[in-house]
Amino acid sequence: MSDPVVFTGGPIETFDDGPEPEAVLVEDGAVHALGTTSDCEAAATSSPRRVDLEGRTLVPGFVDAHMHLLLHGCRLDWADLSGARSIEDIVRLLRDYADAHPGVASIDGYGYDQTVLAEGRHPTAVDLDRVDRARPVSVQHISGHGYVVNSAVMRNLGISASTPTPSGGRIDRGEAGEPTGLFFDSACDLLTGEGGVKIRNHGPNFHLPMTPEDRRRRFDLAQESFLSVGVTTVCDAQVSSRELMAYLQARDEGSLLLRTHMLLLSSGLEHLREIGLSSTVGNERLEISGVKFYADGSVLARTAFLAGECCGHAPGAGRGDDGYLYHEPQELHDLLVEAQRLGLATATHSQGSVPIGMVLDAIAAGRAQSPRPGVVHRIEHCGFPTDEQIARMAQLGVVPVPQPVQLHEHADEIVEDLGPIGARFYPYGAFQRAGLPVVISSDAPVTDPNPLRAAWAAITRETVSGAVAGEDFRIDRTTALAGLTRSPAALLGRRDVGVIAPGAAADLVLLDDNPMTADVGALPRIGVTETWIGGALAWAADGRAGLTD
Ligand SMILES: [Zn+2]
Repeated sequence: MSDPVVFTGGPIETFDDGPEPEAVLVEDGAVHALGTTSDCEAAATSSPRRVDLEGRTLVPGFVDAHMHLLLHGCRLDWADLSGARSIEDIVRLLRDYADAHPGVASIDGYGYDQTVLAEGRHPTAVDLDRVDRARPVSVQHISGHGYVVNSAVMRNLGISASTPTPSGGRIDRGEAGEPTGLFFDSACDLLTGEGGVKIRNHGPNFHLPMTPEDRRRRFDLAQESFLSVGVTTVCDAQVSSRELMAYLQARDEGSLLLRTHMLLLSSGLEHLREIGLSSTVGNERLEISGVKFYADGSVLARTAFLAGECCGHAPGAGRGDDGYLYHEPQELHDLLVEAQRLGLATATHSQGSVPIGMVLDAIAAGRAQSPRPGVVHRIEHCGFPTDEQIARMAQLGVVPVPQPVQLHEHADEIVEDLGPIGARFYPYGAFQRAGLPVVISSDAPVTDPNPLRAAWAAITRETVSGAVAGEDFRIDRTTALAGLTRSPAALLGRRDVGVIAPGAAADLVLLDDNPMTADVGALPRIGVTETWIGGALAWAADGRAGLTD
């Protein structure tokens, strides 16, 4: 039981149409009353402590419906390659990292983007051997869908010209068939080594082994990163045994601060059936919420299946459309139908209109065979749905979960590669016009977790070059802010988060400006000063609370 707290002295934004209250009373981890300061103080069961907002704005804790906690922790722990504009930059950044971390057993980096590199290609093992020939060196692509590794990694893992390329994956090879170091999508299983998590053709395998100490440190780094931008509830969009263990350990130790929903990867579907998982399980702090599937590859890595988007070219015909499907169409269909039969919510990564159509067909078929009205289905990213597909999603109640900062950061190159259809990437406005919920997420570490920067990107659709990609697909500010709070909360089946209302969890964020009234252009720079979860201070900019030093 915690002492009652009254927040007052600044704007209180609930991101809905109601009048702004003057104060909020929090007791026992929940919001108890909204109203005038004296009403709230009178409603407290014992004399309340007052938190003076001093003009700061109080908003509901943000909800990120698609992110990857442990991978985000890796990004924070590894060399940051997102600023690299050439392979020379990558080599230099990795050498700098190795110099600054002399004892590390391997040299890892995250976040290179081949589309902005001067050389116009991915790095190779030969490039990375210049960093270190003896120790493993590996760099992860900005999409999280693949790696480039040095010769030491391939030697240690016994990868050679005779290693076959798995379906749904890519291994780049030299003239004699020898791998050049690039492993994408389902080929990433090869990099996890003996005893590593294996996911076959069910997704990009970023579940590389790590020591318990590394796992713990990266977990806390990532939690801290989300708390520092006001995120209080998350949905981890790809949970293997590695992530599940990390979450359970943190919960048992009392260090799991983020309210967490987990999507278990579809590679375990058979086991879920065997153990009888037929719905969600968990509580308001940690829940297994459904299953994650992959239909196609990544738009950023140009491995998404965009056959329908590229003037009818077959995949492999160039123009950035040489992507692939993870599963044979019938296999994906059967998996999704099976999930519906079991009663499990699904979230399927699908970028191209062909895979999106396959997913919608499977959901419709699954529903027809096994009507289970409460089972939620989502399409992750949902890059290039057609207008007909958007209408069908609304009719089927299938919710798209895109990431607007990807649009901001990558639309210039996407339009260059795909032509005008590139500006349709993540067509939020069309979702809204069709009556679909607008849900904004980060896919961190693919983009940074700052929710207000994501709202800005969805409102403006401004690209790095300053162009506007798809003016018609912009959304208004109120919709965008609801897209960070109430809408993702509803998608996760929650009424207790994403709102400030009597009975809701006291997940509250103090901001140094009001996102309802600040200039839209200023949204990305609004700072968080305090993040509260369940009525307790979880993080403070001044260091009074937090997980790491
Ligand atoms: Zn993701």
